[in-house]
Amino acid sequence: MDILQTPIVVNEIFYSLQGETTRTGFPSLFIRLAGCNLNCRWCDTAYARTGCTMTIATIKKKIQQYPLANHITITGGEPLIQQGTIALLNILCTHNYPLQLETNGSISLEKVPQPVHRIVDVKTPSSGEEKSFNFTNLQLLQPHDEIKFVIADEVDYNYAKEFIQKYCATICCVINFSPVALSMKPQTLAEYILRDRLPVRLNVQLHKMLWQQEPKDF
Ligand code: SF4
Repeated sequence: MDILQTPIVVNEIFYSLQGETTRTGFPSLFIRLAGCNLNCRWCDTAYARTGCTMTIATIKKKIQQYPLANHITITGGEPLIQQGTIALLNILCTHNYPLQLETNGSISLEKVPQPVHRIVDVKTPSSGEEKSFNFTNLQLLQPHDEIKFVIADEVDYNYAKEFIQKYCATICCVINFSPVALSMKPQTLAEYILRDRLPVRLNVQLHKMLWQQEPKDF
């Protein structure tokens, strides 16, 4: 089959500011793929379970409708549950689009092309999915990738702290601690990080400060 005819289920495509990670504040074209293999208690993208089937060729055409977009974020749901996602990433890499992939950490990154900047979640106890992490991914991380813990309470914080002390001592990528809105005050998380001298980044969701929701389309 022509790789451009590979089907992918897309929930939405929109242009906005990246609200998380070290790219916070920079514009990006978001391609939200549909479906997820997890069921986090505080999921804020439950609406992304469904979408429309498009070919990679159609997605490429949609991207071309945003001629000034110079960065693409592939997000979900969980993008790696769809077989066509790796083909999409490979095609976009051949066009030299700077790419960020947001993944829940449960699926191997092995086939994700090297130039892609991977944001890999480690689920904490409050999600109800803390057993989901695929530990082989720790060996596949590169310096330009990032790890993200979403933290709702002190139990999550201690879990994340112990995880990085146990497994991340030799990992050189950025580690983000992201407070759950309405559950963990950013100030409280900042004070925990400073108190414990953790080498992590406080990841405050810019889009929620600006628009009280997911990134707004422009
Ligand atoms: S992995 Fe992400 S999209 Fe899936 S249930 Fe958890 S928060 Fe929602």
